[in-house]
Amino acid sequence: MKKPILGWSLRKSYRRLGFYSKEKNLLVISRILDSKKVPPEVVKFLLYHEMLHMAIPVQKVNGRRQIHPPVFKQREKQFPNYQSIQKWLKKNLVKL
Ligand SMILES: [Zn+2]
Repeated sequence: MKKPILGWSLRKSYRRLGFYSKEKNLLVISRILDSKKVPPEVVKFLLYHEMLHMAIPVQKVNGRRQIHPPVFKQREKQFPNYQSIQKWLKKNLVKL
């Protein structure tokens, strides 16, 4: 994979924790996660999620765009401590 340009978002987005732009070769993680309160593995997981977008393109199934197709979700769950990271995000995101 080509190494993207990495950065924190300019705005503090709670809804969009990360995004990847193929056109700009840019991988951005929300600035709210740029905090000591956030375990490094959570940021690593979000980087992994966006890198999966680099590896797995958007698929069209019955005319519908699938941004996170089944193969994407399958590989996402292979990340170490996936479940506990999801729990952490659910519980702590609002406190950031
Ligand atoms: Zn995604």
